[in-house]
Amino acid sequence: METADAVVVGGGPAGSTSARKLREAGLDVLVLDKAVFPRDKPCAGWVTPQVFEECRVDPEEYRLGGRTLQPITAFRTGLIGGRELETSWARPVSWGIRRREFDTFLLARSGARLKTGTALTSLARSREGASWIVNETIATPLVIGAGGHFCPVARSLNGGGMPEPVVAAQELELRMDDRQSRACAVVPEAPELWFCRDLRGYGWCFRKGEYLNVGLGREDRNGLPGHLNAFVEFLKAANRIPSDLRGDYKGHAYLLAPSSTRRVTGDGMVLVGDAAGLAWPESGEGIRTAVESALLAARVVAEARGDYGVARLEPYRQRLEERFGKRGRLRWARQLPEGLVSALAAVLMSSRAFTRRVLLERWFLRMGMAALEDPPAMVGPPQKGSGTYFALPGVVPVRGAGKGSVR
Ligand SMILES: Cc1cc2nc3c(=O)[nH]c(=O)nc-3n(C[C@H](O)[C@H](O)[C@H](O)COP(=O)(O)OP(=O)(O)OC[C@H]3O[C@@H](n4cnc5c(N)ncnc54)[C@H](O)[C@@H]3O)c2cc1C
Repeated sequence: METADAVVVGGGPAGSTSARKLREAGLDVLVLDKAVFPRDKPCAGWVTPQVFEECRVDPEEYRLGGRTLQPITAFRTGLIGGRELETSWARPVSWGIRRREFDTFLLARSGARLKTGTALTSLARSREGASWIVNETIATPLVIGAGGHFCPVARSLNGGGMPEPVVAAQELELRMDDRQSRACAVVPEAPELWFCRDLRGYGWCFRKGEYLNVGLGREDRNGLPGHLNAFVEFLKAANRIPSDLRGDYKGHAYLLAPSSTRRVTGDGMVLVGDAAGLAWPESGEGIRTAVESALLAARVVAEARGDYGVARLEPYRQRLEERFGKRGRLRWARQLPEGLVSALAAVLMSSRAFTRRVLLERWFLRMGMAALEDPPAMVGPPQKGSGTYFALPGVVPVRGAGKGSVR
């Protein structure tokens, strides 16, 4: 039987950040992902600067090797079918990346052992109940569920089939040819955000170098295809995107932090990122919350010093709520009549002050919310009988059969 101090299921931003931090804390970490990297992930690829800080990635280092990194210094916003406002800043306030490049980069530098192209197919308690047996071949005291919205670890912790108030989104990302590039009026430094009049979702149009990403996300998945179609037609009629833009729109679902009621910890189990349902409610930004939840989880795991009983992992839930707000509550806009929301939307979205200060700087960019402090790996003496050890300065502890190499 293979062993690992922790098995991370999913190698997206939540999984790779968990893996990196647990490796730094001295654990032997194995990441399973059903996909082979580089893999595509439906996502606009808009990333706030705090994410680079939290991942300890220098944008210039990232750009090396020809990866797409589009600086964003402005946003164009408006109601779909209406007029737009442009809001700009003197420096980049966000970046545009391509997920297949970004996720591969983060996963490769996590330092963990990787088993890509390997799905989680079974998860069971060992006979003596002290560890998890993953895919009948790997024994581990800790499983991190980072498999996105449909994460099998989240299902095992929460049970399947529960109706959840998901955001459903569809998008198309394609490389434009020269003619399409000339016919595209979207400015790379100024992505466009177009809001539905009922404020239940928004569409985006995002140019990253030679790539164009167009999509729309909504809180009611039934209306999605109609809203997306109307949005794309509006963009074409307004000459924002080439009229011959065609391709397969790919969809995915995710949960906003306030509406998620998923349990996030269990015995020897922690959920991070979309598996826990953590996207910011106003913007749907989920990369930052994926990374931050992974940092919070890794800290709690390190503090538990090998005792991964649910009580020792419970502080993680509390820290999530301190950071992302109370879970399982209704959003304020859902409590107002729809007519009032539409009238309010028209007034607010034409206000320059509201758009800059509230919509963009507070809700989308979270400028007042500094990057989560990411201290160096926590160290501490092993808990008696825990079987898992953390790095003490200058000591190289090894767990089990010579795994867990620690620097
Ligand atoms: C259309 C769309 C646009 C978006 N745009 C943005 C944006 O611009 N900016 C932003 O911040 N957020 C955006 N989001 C949200 C963001 O994409 C997610 O919140 C983010 O990807 C969550 O990261 P994660 O690591 O939790 O999960 P994921 O990135 O989904 O990674 C999960 C990983 O788990 C693997 N996996 C799944 N099942 C298994 C299994 N059984 N066994 C093993 N591995 C498994 C998958 O292959 C995948 O690699 C968007 C979402 C959508 C749907």
